Amino acid sequence: MKIFVVSEESDNRVAVTPDIAKKFADLTHEVFVATNAGINAGFSDIEYEKSGAVLCPASSGLKGADVVFSINFQKLQYNPGTILITSQAIDLAFCEEQKLTVFALNKIPRTTRAQYMDVLSSQASLAGYKAMIEAAHEINRAIPLMMTTAGTIPAARVLVIGAGVAGLQAIATAKRLGAVVSAFDVRTSAKEQVQSLGAKFIEVDSRETTDGVYAKEMGEEYKRAQEKLLREILPSQDIVITTAQIPGKKAPLIIKADMIETMKKGALIIDLSAQSGGNCEITVSGKTVETNGVKVIGFDNILNIIPYDASKLYAKNVFAFFELLISKMQEQPDITKIDDPILKATLVIYNGIKVDHLC
Ligand code: NAD
Repeated sequence: MKIFVVSEESDNRVAVTPDIAKKFADLTHEVFVATNAGINAGFSDIEYEKSGAVLCPASSGLKGADVVFSINFQKLQYNPGTILITSQAIDLAFCEEQKLTVFALNKIPRTTRAQYMDVLSSQASLAGYKAMIEAAHEINRAIPLMMTTAGTIPAARVLVIGAGVAGLQAIATAKRLGAVVSAFDVRTSAKEQVQSLGAKFIEVDSRETTDGVYAKEMGEEYKRAQEKLLREILPSQDIVITTAQIPGKKAPLIIKADMIETMKKGALIIDLSAQSGGNCEITVSGKTVETNGVKVIGFDNILNIIPYDASKLYAKNVFAFFELLISKMQEQPDITKIDDPILKATLVIYNGIKVDHLC
């Protein structure tokens, strides 16, 4: 197969790293990589060439490509019938027009079998870690308890809202830095995970609960109880990291503007849900806003500042996905007839026809 790896626009990551390009080449695939595609992530063209890839401009890479890998969806001049493996298919009309077959990896189910291919998880882990590192860098005070001859500095208080993949990494990083950490999540199953990291799990006093791996939008009673609790906790916090998401929906609004006014001057909110609407009312995606001495940082893509490892993990995920796809295509060349839950969940368009139209 001819594989092409695109150069991302406005993203420092790359979908396939040189070590993974070599794995494709070892499987006798022809690997083409856009010139400079890995440069911002820390992978030079020479490393790709050493791994057996051919560097070329997008126009020649896309020509005759069987499979194209990208992280962000891009409107390029694809070949009809090309299989595009990307993290999110955002312009289905364009994919239909170009007669593409598209797998959107953000639709990978949260199952044990799928975890090696789960780009959302791998990227969220790094995002959570980096959010805490950025918070430590940005805040005007120290994180751990420090006993000095000039006096004792108390440990910073960190609150993590949403203890999923990103939230748990933020908690673990905050603990390593010596913060006093508390967290909450709508899923009761998060309690044990939070506590196992040595953080305090804050429970919302409500009859409504949810469990499992998929969160749901909570009812009014829960929201009121959560807000009451937050109003009590926020004034004592130095750093708040919000990661709350509901799959397929706008991020829940958790911190209202007037709640920020009760926070300490110099406190910091890092909103990792900024791109899907934000957990904080005043979040602006891609910007830092300040109100009443509290900074709210709305990262639109925090992975841009940790692109080396983010690319490494993404590339491993896509390789695992590709191996699955190829092995199943050998048994059943018609992709729409492959009976595999991961491939079924991620296939959005087949040869220009939306999958729901095929059913
Ligand atoms: P996510 O990014 O969709 O959401 C982040 C967190 O926000 C979730 O834990 C969610 O419960 C929480 N949340 C939603 N609304 C909230 C609210 N109003 N207040 C507080 N918290 C709220 O979720 P995620 O990080 O991808 O993972 C969620 C769960 O799924 C975790 O238990 C994770 O371990 C699991 N998971 C499993 C797999 C797998 O098995 N392959 C893959 C990914 C995630």
